[in-house]
Amino acid sequence: MQASIPQRATEGAKSHTYGCPLCNCGADSEDDIYCHLLVSHRKSALVDALLERVDSDELARV
Ligand SMILES: [Zn+2]
Repeated sequence: MQASIPQRATEGAKSHTYGCPLCNCGADSEDDIYCHLLVSHRKSALVDALLERVDSDELARV
């Protein structure tokens, strides 16, 4: 029961200007990656990824 989603944020994208931090998918725009993260990854996966990255320099730049 998933809504149809534009297949723009995929590994087959021509340009990988923006890359998904959780997989090898890429897209031409940040919006496409945003949409990809929302629909292709579970929230728990996003949280896990964030927590694993928190101790890196991600926070140091804030
Ligand atoms: Zn992804």
